[in-house]
Amino acid sequence: MTAQILDGKQLAQQIRTELKQKITLTQASPELAVIIVGNDPASEIYVRSKEKACQEVGIKVETFRLTSDISAEELNELIDLLNNSSAVNGILVQLPLPRHLNPQEILTRIKPEKDVDGFHPLNTGLIIQKQPSAFIPCTPKGILRLIHTVKQDLSGLNAVVIGRSQVVGLPVSHLLLNENCTVTIAHSKTKNLSEICKKADILIASVGKPEFVTEDFIKPDAIIIDVGINRTNDGIKGDVKYNEASEKASYITPVPGGVGPMTIAMLLENTYEAFLKQNRS
Ligand code: NAP
Repeated sequence: MTAQILDGKQLAQQIRTELKQKITLTQASPELAVIIVGNDPASEIYVRSKEKACQEVGIKVETFRLTSDISAEELNELIDLLNNSSAVNGILVQLPLPRHLNPQEILTRIKPEKDVDGFHPLNTGLIIQKQPSAFIPCTPKGILRLIHTVKQDLSGLNAVVIGRSQVVGLPVSHLLLNENCTVTIAHSKTKNLSEICKKADILIASVGKPEFVTEDFIKPDAIIIDVGINRTNDGIKGDVKYNEASEKASYITPVPGGVGPMTIAMLLENTYEAFLKQNRS
């Protein structure tokens, strides 16, 4: 049996259409400030698609393009300015940053209530404490939203997350734990990885290695979420060998068209939520 596709592109479009309707009904538009440092071509592509998506739903976006030699002090000054601007609802610093800038320090400078990427330690803590006020990082939030389209109650399911990054692996593991999954977090030092993955009802691959997850990692009827975006000579590949995996799984996300569009839709949603929270009297 071939797995059904978890169509992130379609769901993201639906979320964007609904957001656009809500924003049209409000008197003012939400505003997102985007900071990009240096000229990493992949980051530039991501920023441009975020700008376009914002404009389509009626979110104002202002992008600050900074040279790669900017100092931490100068960058922090800009963040402080945006933190204190009543017009700006959300602030996003595009990663990765040049090596001389410490991402944790820079991201911690953003006011938690404007942290629409959900990377501030306060938001991380709120997620662990299951507080609904947390800004949830966009990719993990999008992953959960996709899984919930096919399975509402995840209680008791075995979830294996390959990868423990701050951006994807760790936060998605917390979200799955909050859903009462039994969560295993695997990483580069994990032994017997395929054996562990074979027990997963939900398998999330966030490794950054093209087609790393093969058929022998997959439990029959598992839900497979492929986070990877790997540029290869044969085009963009996910972390999962799609053809093999889809023969065994019940549901699978394609790359492209799975998690990627959901990440952007969740950024729009978080920005809108920030706007609502800041304008609540
Ligand atoms: P990352 O920070 O590089 O983390 C990769 C993780 O994979 C690390 O925890 C690493 O373990 C683990 N790993 C590496 N080799 C492994 C192996 N042989 N066995 C088991 N685990 C291994 O990457 P990331 O930020 O999570 O991103 C992963 C992928 O997702 C990339 O392709 C990225 O482009 C993509 N991505 C996509 C989206 C989207 O919207 N679709 C968003 C973010 C990222 P250690 O911790 O031990 O090093």
